[in-house]
Order: sequence, then structure tokens, then C-alpha cells
Amino acid sequence: MRWSQYFIPTLKETPAEAEILSHKLLLRAGLVRKLTGGLYTFLPIGLRVLRKIENIIREEMNRAGAVEVLMPALQPPEIWQQSGRYETARDVLYKVKDRANKEWVLGPTHEEVITTLVAGEISSYRQMPKNYYQIQVKFRDEIRPRFGLMRAKEFIMKDAYSFDASDEGAMVAYRKMYDAYTRIFNRCGLRNFPVEADTGVIGGNHSHEFMVPAETGENDVVYCEACGYAANIEKATSGLPKTAARELGAAVEKFATPGVVTIEALGKAPYSVPANRQIKTLVYIADSHPLIILVRGDDQLNETKLLAKTGAVAVRPANAEEIVPLLGAKPGSLGAVVNVPATVKVIADERLRGANDMTTGANEDGFHLRNVSMERDVKVSDWFDLRTVTKGEPCAKCGQSLKIQRAIEVGHVFKLGTKYSEKLNANFLDAEGKSKPCVMGCYGIGVTRTLQAVIEQCNDKDGIVWPVAVAPFAVCITPLVVAKDSPVMQLAEKIYTDLTAAGIEVILDDRDDRPGVKFKDADLVGFPLRLGIGEKSMAKGEVEFKPRGGELTAIKADEVLVKVREFLASRV
Ligand code: ATP
Ligand code: MG
Repeated sequence: MRWSQYFIPTLKETPAEAEILSHKLLLRAGLVRKLTGGLYTFLPIGLRVLRKIENIIREEMNRAGAVEVLMPALQPPEIWQQSGRYETARDVLYKVKDRANKEWVLGPTHEEVITTLVAGEISSYRQMPKNYYQIQVKFRDEIRPRFGLMRAKEFIMKDAYSFDASDEGAMVAYRKMYDAYTRIFNRCGLRNFPVEADTGVIGGNHSHEFMVPAETGENDVVYCEACGYAANIEKATSGLPKTAARELGAAVEKFATPGVVTIEALGKAPYSVPANRQIKTLVYIADSHPLIILVRGDDQLNETKLLAKTGAVAVRPANAEEIVPLLGAKPGSLGAVVNVPATVKVIADERLRGANDMTTGANEDGFHLRNVSMERDVKVSDWFDLRTVTKGEPCAKCGQSLKIQRAIEVGHVFKLGTKYSEKLNANFLDAEGKSKPCVMGCYGIGVTRTLQAVIEQCNDKDGIVWPVAVAPFAVCITPLVVAKDSPVMQLAEKIYTDLTAAGIEVILDDRDDRPGVKFKDADLVGFPLRLGIGEKSMAKGEVEFKPRGGELTAIKADEVLVKVREFLASRV
């Protein structure tokens, strides 16, 4: 490729819209342009990288036995109603109307479509296992599209769906995808690690997210260096001891706490109740039902855990107008000991189990209760792990201190079970002729997000530093003289032809620009290797050899192909 004929609109200045480094570099190196928030056009360099990542994914999916298909992005809402997600996923669903005013859905994911397909095609256990994947555009009405390709309204995903006749079969499929994902992200040059992820109401331990450590990530990952435990904070647990039991005090005692409405204030004199001896009482609306949630005063409720444990479609904190008629007091004086309507369920965090000598709100403004025993005084209907782990807590597996790291979720593998096959009638006859729902798994990779994650991880002060496997071109040839008949340009052309003939992807910077401009651009776009050709080096029979991020050396002009091959092989 000749730079002058290509389309690489590099920018000197950082566009104001760019929020994080990889977003800046995407724009400055001319990989993408914003159409409007959350919608991007891929320019040729960006598209080349995208295709490379897609090809790595394809190779590994095929190798793992998955088969490529392509499903429509435009989908009938009926299948979404059938699965129940027309309601549960309504926040992210883009809906469009046709000329007859009929509604359609733009697919945010494809479980409904693939399960409908399989329902019509698979009827016997003999036809399984199957795993179908596609690389396709997805649409999500994100509340906050941001960070360029990281959270877009339209993005490219690889999504795969496995169908098995048994649970054990589904686990084999899951494992294969898990291994394929590890290979894919490693091949993309990404430092990555799998973590246990929230499985929502489906439950079980069979969901992993593939994370790329980065401060700009939107996930917190809890991990243990000693034993390798790693989980998304939405799922992570720790080995903290339960609240120390004390001698059971006398009966519950009400005391006045005028103006005290925070855990902190109750911790101060004259009350001096430490946060770990307080019960924090929260009121949530789970779907349309009010719910009282109790966590220890020094703990934070994790809403994802709450959602998963209650099985609700949506949860939100209740507001004061909802709370006062329900419990008779404003937030700050709430509790679950007295005046709790029988219709309101109380759920509590495991860490409070057995706790006594606790203090909590009296459901009367300006009053608290002490000498509270969870067992004696609170009617808890369910105990769950609901708290958010914090750094330094002991690992539940080995006791070592847990760490927390920000990370970008690039992929997700999930054992679905029969949730979709039951609803969309993907059944088969087993060996005994009995009809059963297929056991499914789903496996997603954010292809465009992965591209940006590579940039977020692989860069320096001058620009992107592409891993060879996903670089738009492996080599950039930079002649310092570009006149057609000049010896410099002739040598550049010869090297360009030789390397191209050897199957190496080369871009020839034939622009009539100052060398400094061309070097800066090559660094910014991030080609793994630059070959500089000037009159001085040529006179010595040499070519400048400059790995991106490495030292400049001189090599013999007639050794270029060998040296380039050696270099590229060493970077794989
Ligand atoms: P997130 O928690 O980041 O919103 P998700 O868990 O909803 O993502 P999945 O449904 O698991 O996403 O989709 C599979 C993959 O698609 C994710 O791992 C992520 O890499 C990518 N992805 C999801 N939403 C977006 C988006 N809005 N823009 C770009 N990539 C996305
Ligand atoms: Mg996910």
C-alpha cells in the first residue's frame, strides 16, 4: 500500500471529544471518526486491525469446532416477547417501526434468533453437540455511550451459542470456548485474565468474563495473588468472619438520637456505636415490591448481587415518599425490628447472621434501638451474600489478602442451561425418545472493544505500539526522498516489492513530506517496524532498521528481507 493513495488522516492535536488515551489514539492515528456519540466510522487502518482481530477469532472458533453463520440484525419483537426479554432487556432494546407501523427490534444479542433457528433444525440428541457463531453488528441503547468504541450504541460482537443434549455436554462446550478465548486474547497481544462473573438468576459458577487490566476499565476485579481466585466485584466473596457474637444483652432498648441520620453520626459521641455494631437498613423496590435489606453498618450493598439473589427484573432504591408511609420514619431512622408491615420481606447479608448487641433505627424519626439480636429480634426471610468486597479482605479460599484491579471486559462465556430453549421450544428427543430442552451456552467477544483494549494496553508517548498479529501493516518503509527516479525511492520501491512478494504487509510512505512528519506519523499509527532509507545510509549500502519502541540500527540493504522476517518471527 502507498500512503499517498491511502486514507490515514492523522491528527496532531487531541480532539476534545476523546476521554481516555486509547480513544485519543484511535482518533489521532486515523483509525476511526465519530459520526455522533456512540457511532463510529472505521477508516482503512482501523478496518485492517478489525479484520485481523476477526480473523484470529474465526480461526480459534473454527478450531474449537464452532461453525460460522450470519443472523439478521433486524428481529421480530415476538421472539423477544416469547423469551421474556422484551421486558427485561427493554432498556437496551432499540425499536423501529416499518411503513405499516409494525415494530421491529435491532438485535443487542442473538439468543432469541439462534434458539428459534435451532428449534426448527434440531430434533434428536444425535444432532448435538452444536456450536454456531457469527461476527456481526449489535445495537444497544446504552445510557452512557462513551470512551469511543468501548461503550458504543452500535458495535461488532462475535457471539457463539452451543447446544447440547446434557449438562455434561454443555460443560465440555463451555470449557472449549473458555480455552479458545484465552488463545484469542493472547494472540491479540493482550494481557488478560478470566474472572468469575455474575450469573444472575441462572445461578451456578459457570460464567466467566475475560478482563484486560486497565485503569480506564469499567469493572472492578477482585483477585488473590496467592491462589489465583479472581471474580468480578459483582460476584466476588471473601473470607471475612461473621460479626463477633457478644453476650446477649437484655431486651431491645429504644433511645433518642435527635438529628442522627447516618452511620457515621451514630458512631460519634455521645452514642459512639462503631459502624460494625450497626445494622444498615435499606429499602428497595424489587420490580414493584418493597423490600427491606439489612447489611452491616460498615458494609456496602451490592446491587448486582441483590438483583441476582432476588431474581427481580429490576431493583432500585425506594425514595422517601415511598418509605415514610411504609415504615413510619424517614431514611436515617429505619430498622427491621418494630413496625415492619407483614407484607414487606426482610433480607439480610450473611455477615449479620447471629449478630447481637447491634444498634439499628427504630422506625421512628430521631430514635434508635440497641441490644438488638438478629436472631431474636429481626424476622429475616432470606439470608444472602449481598455485600461488596473491599481490598485487603482475606481470600475465602486461602486467607491471603485480596486485591482489586480496574479492568475492561472484552469477552464473556456463560452456561445458560435451558432458559431460552424452554421458552423458545428448542427441544430434542433423547435416546429413550423423551423430549427435552437443549442445554445451551452463549459466548460473546466485543470485537471493537477488544481493538480499543489493545490500544489502551499497547502504547507509549509517541502513539500506538501494535502487537504484530493485529498491526495494520507490519512494516512501514520511509524513503526520505520521494522523487520517482531518485536512487532512494528506487531502493524503497525494490524493498517494497520484495517484502510484499514475501507475503509481508508493507506500507510505503511515499508522501512528499518532511522526514520528521513521516517518522512521527509512523510512530503514532504504530507499525511494528520502520525501514528508513536516505541518501546517507544508502551510500553505505545500508537501511535504517527501527522497531517501534526499540533502538534504531543499520542493516545491509541486501539483508532486509532476512532481517525483517527474523524480527517479525521474534515478535509473535
Ligand atoms: P457491559 O457489562 O460492558 O455492558 P455486557 O456484559 O452487557 O457488557 P455482553 O452481553 O456480555 O456485554 O456482551 C459480550 C461482549 O460485548 C462484552 O464482553 C463486551 O466486550 C462487548 N460489549 C457489550 N456492550 C458493548 C458496547 N456497548 N460497546 C462495545 N462493546 C460492548
Ligand atoms: Mg458481559
